[in-house]
Amino acid sequence: MTEKQNRKLRLHEAIRDAKGKQTKNRFLDIAVTDQGVEILSCAAGGAYLEIHDYASGLVSLDEDAITRDLEDFFPILLEKQDQKYPCPVCGDEKEGLFALISCLNDNHDHTRAQVADVIQPIEETWELEGNVHG
Ligand SMILES: [Zn+2]
Repeated sequence: MTEKQNRKLRLHEAIRDAKGKQTKNRFLDIAVTDQGVEILSCAAGGAYLEIHDYASGLVSLDEDAITRDLEDFFPILLEKQDQKYPCPVCGDEKEGLFALISCLNDNHDHTRAQVADVIQPIEETWELEGNVHG
């Protein structure tokens, strides 16, 4: 257990706190530059990195494994997977938070902070319904 896990990191906080260059269409990507190897992440991939110590090398590039890990850590993702959310930019109805995050990240070039701003009220409402993280 890391310190962050003990204080129950919330999804929108993990998205907002994520570091590194942002990418699209997949959770994580690797870029090799003159400076070395860099890990790129989308908004949800950034949240994944926030809950894992990637300096330890214990991260997966497997999309299904990342999805499962995120769902384990942030139960709102599973509980709301059938919930419809209109994308605030294009208005398309998205099923579940992953789809909403992907639309903002991949289709609308939202920064992680902008994605976090969309997720925060959804997550706060969910918490007011009596739910808590992991
Ligand atoms: Zn959209």
